[in-house]
Amino acid sequence: MEELIQKYFRPKLPHIWCPGCGNGIVTACVVRAIDKLKLDQDQTAIVSGIGCSSRASGYLNFDTLHTAHGRAIPFATGVKLVKPAHNVIVLTGDGDATAIGGNHFIHAARRNINLTIVVFNNNIYGMTGGQYSPLTPHNSFATTAPFGNVDRPFDLCELAKGAGATFVARATTYHAPLLTDLIAQAIEHEGFAVVEAITACPISFGRQNKLGSPANMIKWQRDHAVTVEAMSKMKPEQLAGKFAIGILHRSESPEYGAEYQKVIRQAMGE
Ligand code: SF4
Ligand code: MG
Repeated sequence: MEELIQKYFRPKLPHIWCPGCGNGIVTACVVRAIDKLKLDQDQTAIVSGIGCSSRASGYLNFDTLHTAHGRAIPFATGVKLVKPAHNVIVLTGDGDATAIGGNHFIHAARRNINLTIVVFNNNIYGMTGGQYSPLTPHNSFATTAPFGNVDRPFDLCELAKGAGATFVARATTYHAPLLTDLIAQAIEHEGFAVVEAITACPISFGRQNKLGSPANMIKWQRDHAVTVEAMSKMKPEQLAGKFAIGILHRSESPEYGAEYQKVIRQAMGE
């Protein structure tokens, strides 16, 4: 990892993440995926919004944009349209991607623009004070839900698939090698690719919900995640409370940037 730190991280920057936070694991998986694919650092842009996870862009040694809350995807869309050869990777959180940025998320999926979206899903707004997000489980506690969350959460992967994303996958920080592999496949995919990374926030989510140590939260991931392959052989009663990890959806569809280039050529009379 030391070699990867030297190559892909900006030197001597302190980070803001709490001890036991899973954000470092997800960021390491992103870096390992980039390294595995041998992407050119000068041809790779990392774009983020606001939140604990969105701080990752500032720690990485690429072309980076740390943008406004919920607006990472429109910024990334602009980069991709102007620099079609760039690999454009969005690092975002559950609140950033599905509340403030929810409209941008579904419309970018509908357009099938060639972006890779890694959603750090810690089930809560960490940085802004532990408020519930659209991915906070029903009945969980948050500073804005002291008696339990009455909202029903989105299933992020179903939302992405329903909106038109052509690559949808999920893994957890416990399953870091799988998460790395899925991010690499998402980067290689020619279209809108979403990877949900289930990650522990022991401070804002864990404390309010009495989930114990960071290690306990990671064990929870181990005990509740089931691969799509194993899931197909399990009975409904065995699947209660479990969630799927792996590639959940993959399809082919025209890519927005390529279609847009055709319009530009027509407008230029070519
Ligand atoms: Fe991580 Fe939660 Fe701390 Fe944010 S508040 S850095 S998500 S542990
Ligand atoms: Mg969050």
